Amino acid sequence: MGWLTEWKRSRVLKKHRLDEGLWRAALREFDFVRRNESQKLKDLVLLFLAEKEFAGAHGFEVTDAIRVAIAAQACLPVRELGLDWYRGWRGIVVYPGDFRVRRSEMDEDGVVHEWDGELAGEAMPGGPVMLSWDAAAHDPHMNVVVHEFAHKLDMLNGEANGVPPLHPGMDRRAWREAFREAYAGFCEAVERGQDTWLDPYAAANPAEFFAVLSEAFFEHPAETKRRYPEAYDQLKLFYRQEPK
Ligand SMILES: [Zn+2]
Repeated sequence: MGWLTEWKRSRVLKKHRLDEGLWRAALREFDFVRRNESQKLKDLVLLFLAEKEFAGAHGFEVTDAIRVAIAAQACLPVRELGLDWYRGWRGIVVYPGDFRVRRSEMDEDGVVHEWDGELAGEAMPGGPVMLSWDAAAHDPHMNVVVHEFAHKLDMLNGEANGVPPLHPGMDRRAWREAFREAYAGFCEAVERGQDTWLDPYAAANPAEFFAVLSEAFFEHPAETKRRYPEAYDQLKLFYRQEPK
């Protein structure tokens, strides 16, 4: 972090305070943040609000409570890492509900396939995070905010592949083995049509598995630890915290 950023940040923290009533109202539905709140988290949220830019899509009004709710959930994963882990982009676009996207992909024969999709969230490499507020506020089966911001961390070292930049001292092989095993077991259960505790969408690819497991790590840490002890340990080392 350069001195200018440092100076700007200390100025933001000196001049601004998070309103306690707003904080409580914004996080009423987000217990997992309240369980893990601290002054450090609140300071990070202030900086996040100062440095990121929110925009509403389709005429959606992004209220202060919505900004705080999104910022707080986005900041919890980087509470012990710092805001620089969200460097290189600024925008957060909030849709009232799920949004349509047009996708195209070229297969190995050079044929381009196009399709339309409905998304609850998306993280663009080097670009904005897009979120459906309806999904963020009301979908009990996913945490779209933690999910998309986990993708952002994963994208810091290139394409999202389920391996974010690991810290010095972390064992890359231990990470790969823990996640390979957890992912393989999970995909097998999905293929067999078994009820899975995690969203079956996590079987799409290792990047989605990492994002979905990160949601579980923060929202249901005890159950995550019980079901995926090795992957849990790696997430603990990466996020440098054990959520309550
Ligand atoms: Zn995803």
